[in-house]
Amino acid sequence: MKTSWMHKKCSYHQEVVLKLKSLAAFDIQEFGRLQTAAGVYPFFVVRVAGHAPDLPYIYIQAAIHGNEIAGIYAILDFLNGDLGQYKDFFNFIIVPLVNPFGFEHGTRTNEHGLDLNRNFKVENPEEEVRMLKALIENEGKSFLAVLDLHEDPTDEAAVGFEDEKSPTAMYMYEQYPADDFTFGRQVLEKLRTAGFEFWDGTIVFGEKCDRGLIHQFQTGIPVPLMQGSFDEYMGARSRYILILETPTCWDLKKRVQGHLEFLRTALEALKNRVGLIR
Ligand SMILES: [Zn+2]
Repeated sequence: MKTSWMHKKCSYHQEVVLKLKSLAAFDIQEFGRLQTAAGVYPFFVVRVAGHAPDLPYIYIQAAIHGNEIAGIYAILDFLNGDLGQYKDFFNFIIVPLVNPFGFEHGTRTNEHGLDLNRNFKVENPEEEVRMLKALIENEGKSFLAVLDLHEDPTDEAAVGFEDEKSPTAMYMYEQYPADDFTFGRQVLEKLRTAGFEFWDGTIVFGEKCDRGLIHQFQTGIPVPLMQGSFDEYMGARSRYILILETPTCWDLKKRVQGHLEFLRTALEALKNRVGLIR
């Protein structure tokens, strides 16, 4: 089914592009353009150099599912504020919005009705995925961590899981190497203490969920592309992968605050972790 492009819910240009361009302090590069029936969408990456070139790299992205919008606003806030506190510790590569067509039209999928987060194993991926892979491969970095910002629309069951109960609180996916241990638990408990509720269901969309945390695979080795998801693709390129999900039944302000607090808390935990693995 082709997604209708007739009804734009918001403006990528107004909400994201202009705000990014106002961030004069950063290196903001257009790394591709997506042609659609609804217009042309430029794609942006924000590179933030830490205070030393050999600092570990952190990759942050939001809205590979276009209707999961809170992470975009959290990234814009983070760039405007707290990020400066972390330049002694990390270099950053940030893609604030992976699916601009879905963002404007309020859809999980892209213009062709395809889930971009299931598109990383096909031979000829969608243009958004092709551009993102080219960016990451050209960058050639090994990341300390990937922080991927998602939301869980509580009013629409995900395809294939119509019978599942959609979580109505936060939860996280976490991947880490075989010789290491969770730091997601620490992040989760800090967020809980800060007042964000976590989902206590034991199964989420078919996966085992342990008190708000889902562990799927080990990083540091090539990960078989089972679902064709972005985090599987990044499994061999990143030591840690942490994915936050916020429920859309929370108001947008609380969800944005949740993502912002997640970024801060995860980076604080990573600062401590760097000392342990060096
Ligand atoms: Zn998502």
